[in-house]
Amino acid sequence: MFSRSLGLLFLVLVAAVAGAWLAGLVGALVGALLVMLAVIAADLWRAQKVDNWLRHNNVQDPPILSGLWGDLVDRLRRIVTEQRKQTQTHEQRLQDFLSAIQASPNGVVLLDPQGRIEWCNQTAAQHLGLDAKRDLLQHVVHLLRDPIFTKYFAQAEHDNEVLIDGRSDSLQKPFKLSLQLHAYGENRQLLLTRDVTAVEQADAMRRDFVANVSHEIRTPLTVLSGFVETLQTLHLSDSERSTYLNLMANQAQRMENLVNDLLMLSKLEGSPLPAITQSVSIQALTNAVQQEAQALLSMNLIDSQASQKLHFQAVPEMDLLGSQTELQSAASNLVSNAIRYTPGGGSIDVRWDALPDGRLQFSVADTGPGIAPEHLPRLSERFYRVDRSRSRDSGGTGLGLAITKHVMQRHGGELKIESKLGQGSRFSLIFPGARVGIQKIHQS
Ligand code: ADP
Repeated sequence: MFSRSLGLLFLVLVAAVAGAWLAGLVGALVGALLVMLAVIAADLWRAQKVDNWLRHNNVQDPPILSGLWGDLVDRLRRIVTEQRKQTQTHEQRLQDFLSAIQASPNGVVLLDPQGRIEWCNQTAAQHLGLDAKRDLLQHVVHLLRDPIFTKYFAQAEHDNEVLIDGRSDSLQKPFKLSLQLHAYGENRQLLLTRDVTAVEQADAMRRDFVANVSHEIRTPLTVLSGFVETLQTLHLSDSERSTYLNLMANQAQRMENLVNDLLMLSKLEGSPLPAITQSVSIQALTNAVQQEAQALLSMNLIDSQASQKLHFQAVPEMDLLGSQTELQSAASNLVSNAIRYTPGGGSIDVRWDALPDGRLQFSVADTGPGIAPEHLPRLSERFYRVDRSRSRDSGGTGLGLAITKHVMQRHGGELKIESKLGQGSRFSLIFPGARVGIQKIHQS
């Protein structure tokens, strides 16, 4: 700057001296003025070039200027480049934040101080039936139109969450949403949405289960305490006393069956999957099931019912890989159901079949009452019974098929039910080929 000023002064002096030499004092003034005008014109021309360059936003292509203007352009170029880099970094970080919020499994809606939507992620749009672009700057209460949310939004505090029905397109299954508002920034609010359908369903299932168990236990317990009171207050003959004691024993047995089934279910839910290194001989398994079946049949005979014809077909010399206790429980449930639901004189056929695709099937076919098609999909639900009193009278808990299905899932297999009303039923356990092995040691 200093050298430029010196240079300018020198030029003015030279022009003034030349002007004075040619035309005296007037010549000196005119010479100096002309030089100054030339310098101003040159500066204006350079300023115009710099202005054009900045206006066209083409930082990487600066005008080529020397001296002070050249330095100025260079400095400006560096400042603008630096600022651009910073803006790009900030934009990238903002995009990263938005992508992270987009990826969130929860919905996020940013609301301005008036409660209008400033931004929302796709999950929130899906949960609330919004259009992430079209609905921007719309008031969230006007869009949601849910009385529970409207009341919640109007509250001063939002410490709790509220549950509302989800609002996506009608083709989707109904779902439950949890909504919570959080204050942030200057009077802004963050609306978080969460799909809690599964949690709500699990909660409802747990409540139903507890209610069912309580009901199942309360009934025999009431009967039992009634008999106890009778025995305590009435003078009974020996035979009456023995009848009452038998009835009490039945109720106690019913509770024991229920507790055993509940324990089995909780064990199935809480233990690791059965190892494929443990092998169970099909022959031994069938023998154990047959013994249990015979014991049940002989009890029916004591109750003076005509017996059912029970037939076990030849058993293949094979092993199943899995848990002996669980497999025996699953197979026994099917056989004991067939005995309990098939009237006296009917027949029950138990067999193992190797299927052409390598799977192994254990099936129990009976000539019992059969089951109407509408009940079939629900039979393996906990406590689902076609005929409640019939199930209870025969010592049923309503949990047998639920246990069987669970065992089969744990062994990678399936429970198949075929039945026609009035024509009997066939319940089958189908094991995948990977769980079936040829016996190494033949058992007698
Ligand atoms: P339960 O202890 O009541 O027998 P399960 O879970 O074993 O419970 O069976 C569920 C229901 O399925 C039974 O209540 C019964 O209505 C029906 N069911 C099961 N096996 C048979 C069968 N062999 N014949 C007819 N109905 C059956």
